[in-house]
Amino acid sequence: MRILVQKFGGTSVATAERRESVASKVSEAVHSGYSPVIVVSAIGRSGDPYATDTFLSMVKGICPDLPKRELDLLMSCGEVISGTILVSTLNSLGLEAVLFTGGQAGIITDKDFGDARIVRVEPGMILEQLAIGKVVVVAGFQGTTEDGQITTLGRGGSDTTASALGVALNAEAIDIYTDVEGIMTADPRIVEDARTIDTVTYNEICQMAYQGAKVIHPRAVEIAMQRNIPLRIKSTFSDAPGTLVTNMCPARGVGTDITSDRIITGIAHTPNVTQLRVLTGDVQDQHLTDKRIFKAMALADISVDFISVQPEAVLYTVRDEVASKAVQILLNMGFEPGVVPSCAKVSIIGAGIAGVPGVMADMVEALSDSGVTILQSADSHTTIWVLVHKENMVTAVQTLHKKFRLGV
Ligand code: ADP
Ligand code: MG
Repeated sequence: MRILVQKFGGTSVATAERRESVASKVSEAVHSGYSPVIVVSAIGRSGDPYATDTFLSMVKGICPDLPKRELDLLMSCGEVISGTILVSTLNSLGLEAVLFTGGQAGIITDKDFGDARIVRVEPGMILEQLAIGKVVVVAGFQGTTEDGQITTLGRGGSDTTASALGVALNAEAIDIYTDVEGIMTADPRIVEDARTIDTVTYNEICQMAYQGAKVIHPRAVEIAMQRNIPLRIKSTFSDAPGTLVTNMCPARGVGTDITSDRIITGIAHTPNVTQLRVLTGDVQDQHLTDKRIFKAMALADISVDFISVQPEAVLYTVRDEVASKAVQILLNMGFEPGVVPSCAKVSIIGAGIAGVPGVMADMVEALSDSGVTILQSADSHTTIWVLVHKENMVTAVQTLHKKFRLGV
């Protein structure tokens, strides 16, 4: 059996016309000899009647802390609704389809309601249905704990469902269909001449996804990478080949993640972060003070990023929505943190950055010429990050895209 996983995002299933485009992608797969497993997201985006955010808004304000378990039950409905509608569409076109919830599809997760991790997939029921020629539709973004509680997988969770199924079913490929032509050199919503990337390695795309390119969830890339299952990101609404994500880049041979003729692959951005500067002073056991700060953040379940530990100071960022909680914790510890709210992290990513002199210099020069202040920077062998004020984010992304000539 040649299995193909096809995942369709919220905008792809939003209208009857769009669902016909989805059906034609499924039909093409069937006619090419594949047994397709379809993963769907909830219909539409915030504001649409059955979108996940709409469900959340229904209970918001009634009870300040509705248990996460119940929230997950609510949120899991969106994919079940879109899955049922898609099955109806497929059946009406003569493609016999069956719908499974995440749990029925054998997706077993841990108990972290709202952001559960898939621990295992038991794809027996899917295989049975494929064997009798059915198209299997799976509600994305959800699973079930060992004891049968419904969980959801966090933002972008349907991508993760698709990858986990691809690996469990040893699929030939995992196709992620969305509303753009593929993975682009920057978010096309802010960079007009962003170009679709033809081929890219798992590592590069993982970096881009972690740094905010929300076209694919990083966990989904990591899962596909474990088994080397090719990921393809394509548009539901065109026949363009999209982006192929593998370990290989044809121009570069196998596994040549490290060297590349392309220095920069793309630019990503994450808005809405707050920078905290904690002056720790000239204490004797600096490392103990630093440790205390990060332990306190971890205990409060606040994730920290962009950490810079200096002799008498610690700098780091947190998401805007948890900033006041983080500040309160620091005040309680006797610190008086400097707070820079509403920042954005802008990252340039490329396997070729390592060892190429001058990339940082070019970046600093371009940003300063555009009047963008760099609040903090860091680099690794594949990524350079800068923190800027949020109002400079779009300029920063556009400037760097131009500077590194990434456009069409
Ligand atoms: P879906 O509902 O199909 O999962 P998402 O909204 O999660 O779609 O992801 C698609 C969106 O990701 C695009 O509409 C685009 O604005 C955004 N995006 C951000 N960065 C990139 C990038 N580098 N390449 C392509 N799209 C990007
Ligand atoms: Mg998505």
